[in-house]
Parts: sequence; structure tokens; C-alpha cells
Amino acid sequence: MAKDYYKMLGIARNSSKDEIKKAYRKLAHQYHPDKGGDEARFKEISEAYQILSDDQKRSQYDQFGSVFEAAGRGGDQHSGGFQWPGGFRVDFGEQGPNGGGDFDFSDIFEDFLGMGFGGGGRARTHERKGKDIQIDLEIPFEESILSVKKDIELGKLSRCTRCNGSGGEPGSKTKTCATCQGKGNVQKNQRTFLGSFTQVSTCPECLGAGTRPETVCQQCRGKGVEQRVEQLEIFVPRGIRDGEILKITGKGEASLAGGVAGDLYAHVHVLPHKVFRRQGEDIIMQLPIKLSQAILGDSVEVHAIDGAIKLKVPEGTQAGDILKVRGKGAYHPSSYGRGDLLVEVKVEVPRKASRKVKGLAEDLKKEGF
Ligand SMILES: [Zn+2]
Ligand SMILES: [Zn+2]
Repeated sequence: MAKDYYKMLGIARNSSKDEIKKAYRKLAHQYHPDKGGDEARFKEISEAYQILSDDQKRSQYDQFGSVFEAAGRGGDQHSGGFQWPGGFRVDFGEQGPNGGGDFDFSDIFEDFLGMGFGGGGRARTHERKGKDIQIDLEIPFEESILSVKKDIELGKLSRCTRCNGSGGEPGSKTKTCATCQGKGNVQKNQRTFLGSFTQVSTCPECLGAGTRPETVCQQCRGKGVEQRVEQLEIFVPRGIRDGEILKITGKGEASLAGGVAGDLYAHVHVLPHKVFRRQGEDIIMQLPIKLSQAILGDSVEVHAIDGAIKLKVPEGTQAGDILKVRGKGAYHPSSYGRGDLLVEVKVEVPRKASRKVKGLAEDLKKEGF
């Protein structure tokens, strides 16, 4: 957790939008790299402002202490809560692959390490994180531009609702684990091609805790976790691009050993749109106009992402001309600006002209068109 954006801007948590803006302007002026300021500090300030000046992000931040942070986000160079997919790193947790074989060398090695540090595997086991989950999240083009909350259902290993993860019936006392006598681990002699090892492994009964509840939770039968379908709400920030990954901390699988839950990684797939396509922060669309509109000019209505816009087609517009509507493109993730809507003009020539139109065209021809 995260950064205190209020502190970065030197303002109170209940500051008004105006106060936030003032504080940002003052600090941005002071730390601007072009004026010899501290660049890292400047980036912090900009990030803080970007979150706190946006009502939606600010309330999310106030509520959860962070805005959905980046997958594998390193440092603070990416503001806005997520990053481009380039630097993405998948963390499979520390459990590693556990095959079904009789002998797992890595297990032994780990347990030796555990013993070497005097932990006997016990402390480590307790910190074991739940598994991360990866999902694919399809988002219609419009929603990728304007931000959206996605409700999803996710079947996963979750903390038991009855015992809240303890594995004991509510109110049950605990007793020393009979399998490991409270040590949290069990020893086993193992012969391998390298010689004979004493293998110390985490107690399968108490998973390292050393204690068991006297009465086992009847819902999860003492495991503390259960397979359950959970409803999740994923907030997709505006301007998200196809291929980006959202990390939702703590929404992966519950930990078997009472540790923190894993994380959820949502791979975003922005679905193609019939009309719009994205190029950087700009949105491109085509606009068919009539020959007469191209020659005479006109005012037309265009259905942009945000709704209808009046667009002026200038006199003498050519096929292929781009009419630019400023600020109606996609939101830039690291600033609060938007790209433009680029309207590419197509001039429609009638496929079947009436006698009269042909006559008019003859006149045009005489005029040299
Ligand atoms: Zn339970
Ligand atoms: Zn035990």
C-alpha cells in the first residue's frame, strides 16, 4: 500500500477540487524538470494529481487505499494505475509446480533451507500466498474508452465463510496438532541417488500451524477454504488498451495456510468496433458524404463515442480528408488529456445516377470538373 497522494501534494484528505488543483500547480511549477526541478518528485506529484483530480479514481483511492495497480509495475514511472504490457511479469507464487511423483527434489531442498534458517518450514508456510488467478476480460470498444465496471463471476478457492479461514467451528478451542505434536512439520527418511536424507516437510494436518481446532468447521471440514463462485466487480480504467493487464490485489485464491490471498490478473481484450478504431490516443472513423456536400460544404451530425457531435464539412472537402474533432479520442492513461477523433471523409458517388443527375454532371464536365 501505497502512496499517500494527499501527503505528496501536501493537502488534507478533505481538500476540495480547487485546493487540489492549486497545490498541484504550485508543486508542479516548483519541481518541473524543464525548470531544473526534481523529476522523480514531479512524477509523483503528477500521479497524485491525476488520481485526486478524478472523482472516480479519488473515491476508489479513498476507499481502498490504491487505485488498481499495475501488474508487475516497477517503481513509479507509470502513473494512472496500470502499464503497458511490455514490462509485465507473472508471479506464480512460491509454491511452484508440484508434480505427482514420489520424490520432489525441490521440496527437500526447500526444507533444508527452511531448517537452516531455524524456521523448520513453519514460519514460511504461514506466509504462503494463495494462488494467483489469470482471466480474460473482453470489453466492448466504447467501454474501453469511457471506463466501465465489469461484474464477473469467478469460481475459486475462497476463504470459508463459516470459520473465516480458521478451520474450526465458530467458538471452538484449539488443541495441539496430533500429527506433528505441535512442531508444524514432520520428518521422513528418504533414500535418493544422492544418499539418505531426512526430509522435513510441513505437517499435512495443520499445514504448519502446530494447532488444530477441537471442533472442525462443518462447512469446510477444517480446511479454512472452500471452492465457491464469487461475484467480483472489476473497475476498468478509461482509456485501457487491448492487451493490457489489470492486477486486482487479493482477489486470487485464498491461502490454504492462513496467508494472504493471491492476486487476480485480468487480461484485457478490447473487441473491435464496426465504426471506430483506435490509433494511439486518437480514434478514427469514416464519414461518407455526398458529392454535393463535398463541393458545397455542410454541417453534419456524427455519432462519436460520447454521443452526437455537429461537424462542419468545409466547402471543397476531398475524399480522404481528415476532419479533426479535438478531445474526443481516448483518454491518455498517464495524463487527464484525451486524444482526438479523426473523421476520415469518404465521398459517395452515386452508383446509379438519374437522367437529371447525369445532365448536371455533363454541366460539371463543361465547367472542367
Ligand atoms: Zn470453515
Ligand atoms: Zn501438525
